[in-house]
Amino acid sequence: MLIHWFRRDLRLHDNTAFAAAARDAGGAVVPVFILDDAILHGRWASPNRTAFLLACLAALAAELHAQGSRLIVRRGDPQTILPQLAHELGASGVYWNRDYTPYAIRRDAALKTTLRAAGLTAQSFKDVVIFEMDEVLSKEGRAYTVYTPYARTWRRLLEERGTAVQAAPTLAYSAEQQATLETQTTAIPTLTDLGMTSPITLPAAGEAAAQAQLQHFINERNGIADYAERRNLMGEAGTSRLSPHLRLGTLSVRQCIAAAQNTAAGAGRDTWIGELIWRDFYVQVLYHHPHVLSGAFKPIYNNLAWENDAALFAAWKAGQTGYPVVDAAMRQLAQEGWMHNRARMIVASFLTKDLLIDWRWGETHFMQHLLDGDPAANNGGWQWAAGTGTDAQPYFRIFNPASQGEKFDPEGAYVRRYVPELANVPNKFIHTPHTMAPADQIRADIQVGRDYPTPIVNHKTRREQALALYNAVREG
Ligand code: FAD
Repeated sequence: MLIHWFRRDLRLHDNTAFAAAARDAGGAVVPVFILDDAILHGRWASPNRTAFLLACLAALAAELHAQGSRLIVRRGDPQTILPQLAHELGASGVYWNRDYTPYAIRRDAALKTTLRAAGLTAQSFKDVVIFEMDEVLSKEGRAYTVYTPYARTWRRLLEERGTAVQAAPTLAYSAEQQATLETQTTAIPTLTDLGMTSPITLPAAGEAAAQAQLQHFINERNGIADYAERRNLMGEAGTSRLSPHLRLGTLSVRQCIAAAQNTAAGAGRDTWIGELIWRDFYVQVLYHHPHVLSGAFKPIYNNLAWENDAALFAAWKAGQTGYPVVDAAMRQLAQEGWMHNRARMIVASFLTKDLLIDWRWGETHFMQHLLDGDPAANNGGWQWAAGTGTDAQPYFRIFNPASQGEKFDPEGAYVRRYVPELANVPNKFIHTPHTMAPADQIRADIQVGRDYPTPIVNHKTRREQALALYNAVREG
């Protein structure tokens, strides 16, 4: 028997290490998941994401049960649990799919040493990304730090090498192995057991739900075919919303690419694949430049003199800034554990360049709430918005939240959904309700300053202050 250690690959189909373990063990795979408190209660602790993880584990356990197998769930340190479990089960080794955060790399290297010292096999596989960390390189053999050339090489490699989706393996156990599996199976802990609560309603969890959602996005009107035109419209369902599934691996990135390649060529398909390339891009940025998890990619920006005003930060988190599109976005995050990409860019720009708050405060808040919260993509997104990163928005390009709203939520559908106190405000004022005359406010059932905040900062003034802050650093 071989153990397959599930981590962020909670599916049976197209799972590289799982399929390899089944092949090498003649179908006798022991599926194991370990709830690691160092992650669950660590720097990026998130009750929302943990709730979704538990729901995905329940779905995975049911799928494995239907295949005559069992999911063994343990809580503790993988370094101790896996060798011990292998010993108890009589398994000859452990397989898993690689992950690329500094924590995962350290943990997995130590585990390999421990397992091999105990005479067990330990094998890891590429699965989370299309291309490994040293596969997409410049002509000089260097890792890219700019997206466009990275993406060009990535697309060329995909064309040359293709990507294949694997079937789910067949599992088979002797009566004795089956009995051993049964004795090791215990109930999956609840969120309460883990000392957490989450207020959000979870999206459908598990592999079948992820597949259904992918098919919907691929086949329905307003899906991939219209993605290029609709992806920035915050009030519309113009993106796939697959990110929580890609985060936990209830869906593989290869399945996404393969499904996209089966659709008609066009801007929608190209743009969507381009987003999946951003995902690979940020994984390799973090791998090659792990210092981004503690500070700016470009270290000079560690000297920015952020104001870090706690009251302004609290207003941002609560969606009470007086900038409707920012407030809608922050309330969407609180209610759903997800936020539209355009909105993420707007609130990140607002936090750093209007509130002059360190992007790392925002990074942490996002990680606490996002179902798709991922150290690589989240850090990349924040450093992009703050202008401190690899492929960053230049620091002097500062979003105006009202114009962003007018452009990407022209009818105010997004604002009205999440900021109901503005529901009756006419389109003309929906992104600047504080400019309504008192009579208009009465007609719109709102008194700005009482029912909804007046802007907590003046964008124009703050823009100048942000430029000064950044210039001070650049001028040394
Ligand atoms: P779609 O538009 O359908 O895109 C398909 C998939 O491509 C996504 O599910 C995601 O896996 C990937 N993707 C899309 N855009 C990006 C991107 N810019 N970077 C990396 N991958 C991308 N994405 C995360 O998965 N986790 C995060 O923690 C995260 N934090 C972010 C923080 C900020 C400040 C910003 C600006 C962006 C962040 N993103 C993050 C990227 C992006 O916002 C989300 O991936 C996207 O909104 C998810 O929605 P979707 O599944 O409908 O995406």
